[in-house]
Amino acid sequence: MPELRQLWSMLEGGAIMVVEVRHDLWRSWGLCPRHAWGLLAIELELRGGSPLTSTVLHEDLMGRAVRAMRIARTQPWPLARRRLVATRRCLTCDFVELAGRHGPADPLVEPGPAQRTAIAPMAELARTRTWIAAAAAVWSAARCPGCGVGGDGPRCRPHLLQGPAPRGERHRTLERLEALAPRVTRYGRSMTWRGPTARPEDRAALVEALGWMGGWGPPA
Ligand SMILES: [Zn+2]
Ligand SMILES: [Zn+2]
Repeated sequence: MPELRQLWSMLEGGAIMVVEVRHDLWRSWGLCPRHAWGLLAIELELRGGSPLTSTVLHEDLMGRAVRAMRIARTQPWPLARRRLVATRRCLTCDFVELAGRHGPADPLVEPGPAQRTAIAPMAELARTRTWIAAAAAVWSAARCPGCGVGGDGPRCRPHLLQGPAPRGERHRTLERLEALAPRVTRYGRSMTWRGPTARPEDRAALVEALGWMGGWGPPA
């Protein structure tokens, strides 16, 4: 429950637009997989099905990943690798740990009946499953081979970090990310006034961005 509360605050309070929060999210390369996919699920289940916050965050992170890989492409791997390592823990994980110290009796940690009803759809994740499955024909080919779920896309960031990543692989990864980043941007634009209509390949771009950033375990 504390993690839902914290993720919700990112949506309601627009926290990811706050400069300090954004800097923390840069340092941690976004939220951990559990909470990144959790944030997406909250937006799909409880926020009308438009994952704008997840998309804005990953548009930003993909831009940073492309810039990091452009520099990392030609550096010795130990140096290049450091550009992709998180130097901060996931914000939501931090919050959950802090809330745990307060104990379940804390009203900030234990939800009331109204909150329980409001988050009830989260139990089934029906919309999230449908949304992800609808674009599977596009994103499934882009999955990381190292994640063991099929696909012949670029190795995800966690698997790339396990190295060694030869320059040829880094170059190919950069090309894939350079192709992905504008697709995430287009999906973000589709959620704005007079933006283009979202297509399955646009939705797939967000799935691919989450998959590359933290690994492909959750959608599998
Ligand atoms: Zn986390
Ligand atoms: Zn992987």
